[in-house]
Order: sequence, then C-alpha cells, then structure tokens
Amino acid sequence: MNIENIIHELNKGVDKKNIYLDEKMSKHTTFKVGGNADVFVCPNNIKELSHVIKVCNILDVPYFVIGNGSNIIVKDNGFRGVIIQVYKNLSDVCIKDGTIVAGAGIMLSKLAKIIAEESLEGFEFASGIPGTLGGAIYMNAGAYGGDMSQVLVSADVVDQQGNIITLTRDELKLGYRTSILQQSNHIVVSGVLKCERGNKDTIACLIQNLNNKRKEKQPLNFPSAGSTFKRPEGYYAGKLIMDSGLRGYKIGDAQVSEKHCGFIINKGNATANDIISLINYVKVNVEDKFGVELQTEVKIIGE
Ligand SMILES: Cc1cc2nc3c(=O)[nH]c(=O)nc-3n(C[C@H](O)[C@H](O)[C@H](O)COP(=O)(O)OP(=O)(O)OC[C@H]3O[C@@H](n4cnc5c(N)ncnc54)[C@H](O)[C@@H]3O)c2cc1C
Repeated sequence: MNIENIIHELNKGVDKKNIYLDEKMSKHTTFKVGGNADVFVCPNNIKELSHVIKVCNILDVPYFVIGNGSNIIVKDNGFRGVIIQVYKNLSDVCIKDGTIVAGAGIMLSKLAKIIAEESLEGFEFASGIPGTLGGAIYMNAGAYGGDMSQVLVSADVVDQQGNIITLTRDELKLGYRTSILQQSNHIVVSGVLKCERGNKDTIACLIQNLNNKRKEKQPLNFPSAGSTFKRPEGYYAGKLIMDSGLRGYKIGDAQVSEKHCGFIINKGNATANDIISLINYVKVNVEDKFGVELQTEVKIIGE
C-alpha cells in the first residue's frame, strides 16, 4: 500500500486539514486503546466522503467508518488503510412537523436534547448512549425499552461506488443490535426520524431519570465501550459473568467492572490485547459454566 499515493488522491477531493497520517486510534475510541491508523479522514461533507470511498476503491485500500468510536476496539498494531470518521462535520439537524432529518455525525445526546426542546417524545432512550446517529443506525442502538427501529423512518447511505441511496426502515432490517448495514459496508450520512408531540417537562424528566439510572448502574468513570456482550436470549450477560465468579477479574489493566459485570473497563493503561484476552477469557468461562455462548456487541478491527 502506497500511502503517499493515497494521500495524493485524497487531496484532490478532501480538505487537507481533515486528513491525518498515522493517527492514534486511542484518541478516537471510548476504550482509549488501539494502535495507529495509516490514514484518518474526517470528511467535511457528503461530496468529500464519496471522494474518499472512490479513492479507496480505485486504489484497493481497505477502509472502515467510525462515529464516536464508542463500540469499537482497534487492535494494538493499528489499522492498515483508511479510517473515515463521520462525526461533527456531518451533523446538521432540521425538524418539521415531528419529522427530524439529522446528519449521521450528530451525537445522540445532542440530538435527544434538540428533539426534547421541540416537545417531541420517543427519543429519550437514546440520550445517554455516547454514539453518533450513524453508529446508532448501524447498531440499532437501544436502551430502556427503546431502540432506533421505533423512531427511524429511513437513512441516506453512501454505497461502495460513492453513490447516495435511501434505505427505508424495512430495508435497513433493524434487529437486536443489528442492521443490514453490518453486511453491506454502506456508510450512513443522514437519518430521518419521526417522533410524536409530547409534554416538554415530562420528556426532560424522563431523560434526567434515565441518565441518573445510567450513572447509578454503569461504570461511567472508566473508559469502556458500554456492554461488551450482546444479551443472550433468556439471560443477562452481566449476571452470567458475575455468576461465573468473574466480577472484578483483571487481565493487565482490563477489568470486568465490579459495578456492572456486563462492562469491561480500562482501569488506566489497558492495551487492546488485554481487553480482547479478557473478552475471550470471559467467553470461555461462561460457556464452561452455563453452556451459553456470549457474542461481543463491540466491534474489533485492525491487526
Ligand atoms: C458508556 C457507554 C454506554 C453505552 N450504552 C449503550 C446503550 O445503552 N445502548 C446501546 O445500544 N449502545 C450503548 N453503547 C455502545 C455505543 O455507544 C453504541 O453502539 C453506539 O450506537 C455506537 O455509535 P458510535 O458513533 O460510537 O459508533 P462507532 O463505535 O464509531 O462504530 C460502531 C459501528 O458502527 C459503524 N458505524 C459508525 N458510524 C457509521 C456510519 N455513519 N455509517 C455506517 N456505519 C457506521 C462502525 O463501522 C462500527 O462497526 C454504550 C457505549 C458506552 C461507551
């Protein structure tokens, strides 16, 4: 892979100040671990994003899109290729008659606040999830009984040729922490949501209550990616892990949280390898004890 050539081609359609070389991925993931990406690009707009994808395809360079990096582990040796961050540059919001059109890069907390200000209800569940709208659609993120499938109407995505297409909620095939995007490599650039009119104070109060619950139950003072594992049918991952005697179990500086066993946390200087080793250790122990195969919710990339 010729990095100079990639940069040369990217420069033709992307603002130079949004292209970074050898970028530390620990700066862009909530776990605060991971090696460097060869190239890291934050496109200013959809045109720039399409250009990046076209360049990667023409030069046959691997690429991966991230939002806030709140559900990702980048391995310690980093990512060979281009990481594309869809974040603050693509975060405009427009609301009319309960229909919200928002850029994929907006943080859910900010979007929830804007929606609540308009006295629209149904998006409160998302206010404490520390990801972008794009990441939330890809994951069908959810909490406290709500998820993206309940409010999403459609999403505009850029396909592998750099074209924009609209996918309806049905076409997105949103399921438990999954969507069709997990198979297609399409990049979300915006989403259309529909919320009902509600009472502003009630909405604000619900958001406050849900966020208080989070603070009470989750180890929010340590870097993590939230729940490390998906909920296995009929069980809770955290309880299985606790009942396996792994509460507080550590490998290096990666630890099964004592506050919430479903979270693996970085106690300070964990490496991606510590975290991945701990994930595997937990999986083996839970399967041995309960015969339940845990699946990771967090996505692992790099080498
Ligand atoms: C403290 C904490 C609490 C959390 N609580 C919850 C919770 O309650 N519920 C929940 O569901 N999740 C939770 N999470 C996990 C995480 O916040 C969500 O999965 C979130 O939706 C990820 O968004 P992101 O922008 O950070 O995506 P990233 O972590 O950057 O990426 C996650 C996946 O989405 C893909 N992706 C990101 N942006 C795009 C895009 N624009 N187009 C296409 N694909 C994209 C990436 O390729 C990757 O595969 C929590 C995480 C933390 C750290």
